[in-house]
Amino acid sequence: MNKAIATVARTNEILKKFDLYAKKGYGQNFIIEPGIVEKIADFAKCDNECVIEIGPGIGALTEQLCKRAKKVIAYEIDTRLLEVLPYSLSEYNNYEIRHQDFLEVDFEEVVKECRKEFNKVVVCANLPYYITTPILFKIFESKCEVDSITVMVQREVADRFCANISTKDYNALSVITQYLYNVKMVMKIPKTIFNPRPNVDSAVIQFTKKEHKITVDNEQVYFDFVKACFKQRRKTLFNNLKEIIQDNNKIREILTQCNLSETVRAEAIDGAKFIELYTMWSNL
Ligand code: SAM
Repeated sequence: MNKAIATVARTNEILKKFDLYAKKGYGQNFIIEPGIVEKIADFAKCDNECVIEIGPGIGALTEQLCKRAKKVIAYEIDTRLLEVLPYSLSEYNNYEIRHQDFLEVDFEEVVKECRKEFNKVVVCANLPYYITTPILFKIFESKCEVDSITVMVQREVADRFCANISTKDYNALSVITQYLYNVKMVMKIPKTIFNPRPNVDSAVIQFTKKEHKITVDNEQVYFDFVKACFKQRRKTLFNNLKEIIQDNNKIREILTQCNLSETVRAEAIDGAKFIELYTMWSNL
């Protein structure tokens, strides 16, 4: 049996054999700490189910997913890795590498395809940091919900997704994601466990389906409303609302009805209150 891919020795052996170097442009940082990939795969809770991975790299996390899941579908953009992965993952036969830019994938179709065979479909990945938010929003906005999303992202991005009200990281992204999902910080990761070593620390976060969420009539319009409320962070909510409501008296009326003062900032408003504000605004 081979050593785990996520070890210094095996990673170096694979990189050397294929004369491979990490491409910065593709956000390539390979994990070289076996305990970490094992934990991420455990958190994904994919035993005997189907996992969609974005960016398998040389297979460090894919290997652990293959050990647990029944099927792993992994999207990889880098052509060079197409000959590496069959070698590094030669002990497994329950994976499929799809050579595609994930941002071009018809994600709803893929989830539908997985659901034909499996009860549970989860996403698990160490994401390329240059496109973390577009990837996550592609998944969030798809009509087919996955059961959970467990991803490694830059620490500061993780902080924003998980941020609580009235903290420096709380912003439109926090409000929108927490409307859609339960978000949890699962693990903080130092930059020392990667080859090459990135400049920033990372974290693993997990999004799980909200079973009983209070819904709004039009999610896209609601998300745009929240973004408008946070448009200029240092400004009051009143001033940000001026961009979308021309009549100041109407803004005062909405704020009063929501029990909010004229000096309040968006960062002091929780998700439920945003929905209340949005509903008042859309009924104007
Ligand atoms: N999973 C490996 C690990 O944890 O060691 C590698 C993770 S590395 C941070 C990100 C991976 O995403 C790379 O393999 C990179 O080539 C791939 N990638 C980058 N952009 C992509 C895209 N648009 N679609 C699919 N894969 C992409």
